[in-house]
Amino acid sequence: MTTLAPGMSWVDLQFLGRSKAIAAVVIQGPAGTVIVDPGPTTCLATLDLALQRHGTRWSEVTALLLTHIHLDHAGATGTILREHPGITVYVHERGAPHMINPEKLLASATRLYGADMDRLWGEFAAVPEANVVVLRGGERIEAGGRTFDVAYTPGHASHHVSYYDAASGVAFVGDTAGVSIDGGYVLPPTPPPDINLELWRESVAAIEAWSPGTLFMTHFGPVMHVRPHLQSLMENLEQAARWVKETLDEPGTDEERASRYAERLRHDLRRHMTEAQMQAYPVAAPFEQLWLGLARYWRKKV
Ligand SMILES: [Zn+2]
Repeated sequence: MTTLAPGMSWVDLQFLGRSKAIAAVVIQGPAGTVIVDPGPTTCLATLDLALQRHGTRWSEVTALLLTHIHLDHAGATGTILREHPGITVYVHERGAPHMINPEKLLASATRLYGADMDRLWGEFAAVPEANVVVLRGGERIEAGGRTFDVAYTPGHASHHVSYYDAASGVAFVGDTAGVSIDGGYVLPPTPPPDINLELWRESVAAIEAWSPGTLFMTHFGPVMHVRPHLQSLMENLEQAARWVKETLDEPGTDEERASRYAERLRHDLRRHMTEAQMQAYPVAAPFEQLWLGLARYWRKKV
């Protein structure tokens, strides 16, 4: 684990054996340990080992703070709770029903990942309703004896929230602040079905309003140059949206449009960083899926 702030560390979950794809945060408080986005079940052994090495027992974990319910962030929640039924799960009100009854969420994810579901994510077990605390944004919650402000931050997902620990100045922003690996290109993750540019802009403003000293992104890790980072994110989001919109007027199938967009994005990323650095991006955010989310956004708009 890597230290983020006093009593706060993060773990590279080694998704599919690859580093710098998915990270989870472990926060020690006076009244227990809190985990932000525990990741998918396929990474649970890595999280387990990291906690062990850190000298933290699962029995000390009192809460899971979910930024959103996508499988790469929240997939292991139900599996963890089956073993440790005392843990409280914080999640936005639009995500909560799908944690309790995951059938629809899994059907939607299966449309995206098909036969790869199990290899990528592993089990997604239902979370008992009694363990769920529903958030709307605007709350101040106590978890592990520490205080977190909650903001509703849709745009990437309609049920996305971010958490802010004012004591350390760290904001846990899930996917709202994009994907950036080793300080590289700030890629807006735009998979279907919820992408919304207008809401995303407001969410970034809500995060900036906290004036955080550090943003913690699931993909991948802490960012200290908060303002320039968010500015790059918004520029890249506008550009991505423009490019996808252009493809919608082009001839061919959606598959062809998606692959042309992916090629254009790859080309743009190459201008900003090394090939090795670039390899990590599609693991966190497959490029053809990014087209799908923005295409859906534009088609719903007209
Ligand atoms: Zn994600």
